[in-house]
Amino acid sequence: MSVFNFNAGPSVLPVEVTEGMARAILEFGEKKLSILELSHRSEEINAFIQESRQMVRDLLELPEHYEVLFLSGGSTTQFALIPMNYLPANGVAGYIDTGTWSTKAIDAARCYGEVDVAASSEDDEFRHIPKDYRYDPEWSYIYCCSNNTIAGTQMHAYPKTDVPVVLDMCSDIFSRKMDATKFSVIFASAQKNLGPAGTTVVILDKRQLGKVKRAIPDMLNYQKHIAKNSVLNTPPVLPIYGCYLMLKWLKKKGIDQIEKENNEKAALLYQEIDANPLFKGRAAKEDRSIMNVCFDIIDEKLESSFHTFAANYDIFGIAGHRSVGGYRASLYNAMSKEGPERLVKAMQDFAWRFG
Ligand SMILES: *Cc1c(COP(=O)(O)O)cnc(C)c1O
Repeated sequence: MSVFNFNAGPSVLPVEVTEGMARAILEFGEKKLSILELSHRSEEINAFIQESRQMVRDLLELPEHYEVLFLSGGSTTQFALIPMNYLPANGVAGYIDTGTWSTKAIDAARCYGEVDVAASSEDDEFRHIPKDYRYDPEWSYIYCCSNNTIAGTQMHAYPKTDVPVVLDMCSDIFSRKMDATKFSVIFASAQKNLGPAGTTVVILDKRQLGKVKRAIPDMLNYQKHIAKNSVLNTPPVLPIYGCYLMLKWLKKKGIDQIEKENNEKAALLYQEIDANPLFKGRAAKEDRSIMNVCFDIIDEKLESSFHTFAANYDIFGIAGHRSVGGYRASLYNAMSKEGPERLVKAMQDFAWRFG
């Protein structure tokens, strides 16, 4: 490995995954063709698509009434598909606004029905997760963003309600154990925790579907994708193969071990942020994300100096999102503990030089 890649997405992948993809591009299956040349209807391609769906089921222990799809268009497309498929024209959906991604989801939902913003932390620049939100039993669903990649906050508890819960897990899927049966929809584009960019995993309770009357074109209709086993049209074959390799890697390691390592990695970095006199954390402590550690330098004049300094420690990709600045170290599933250890060392040495 050349550098420690802290990018927020696309982000670090295990070498097994990138090497496996590289090999498959050169030669795949019995015919020794490239994976890029094979029909998505062929046995060897369909086999790993269906096995990937099954591995998601296994990892989340999904009951029969759930379906798993690999779609394209990123999570941003799901912002529109969710209201299109679940929100009747005269219906209302509750949204918890915890930052950029849920704000975009709210804008998309307003194209299809009414949005009731159940709670928002906008007045605090989304530095915390609102916890005192309202529920209305009439809502078609309540929408939440599990991990706020830009603000560095994460929901450590989810709404407890009979209203169907929709969850954006784009940046924390498979990062910790969870009870998936509490949710009607979970979605995540691959490029943070699950593989390369180009596909989005969507997990659906199919009992909730088919309740809206509007006409939905096939490609935007979850039921049509389910009926075709997630191969309604030509799917993004190579990104799904990347997910297939990553899912194998996750299964081998086990979510318990992943969760333990993720907690350790985040703890290392937050401990240093709190102890180091030059830096300060951004998110409210109780809502800190274990995936995206966002922090600032107290003396802003030193901001770019630390970027240059950290680069000498082979640290790459710690610039905060362009809308908020500062630093962001993303510690996704594939990031090894050596990454945050190296960053802590750089912060300590920097404080010794400039403190
Ligand atoms: C990255 C991200 C998105 C957007 O994903 P795209 O694949 O770029 O559409 C949505 N939600 C969250 C939480 C994200 O981190």
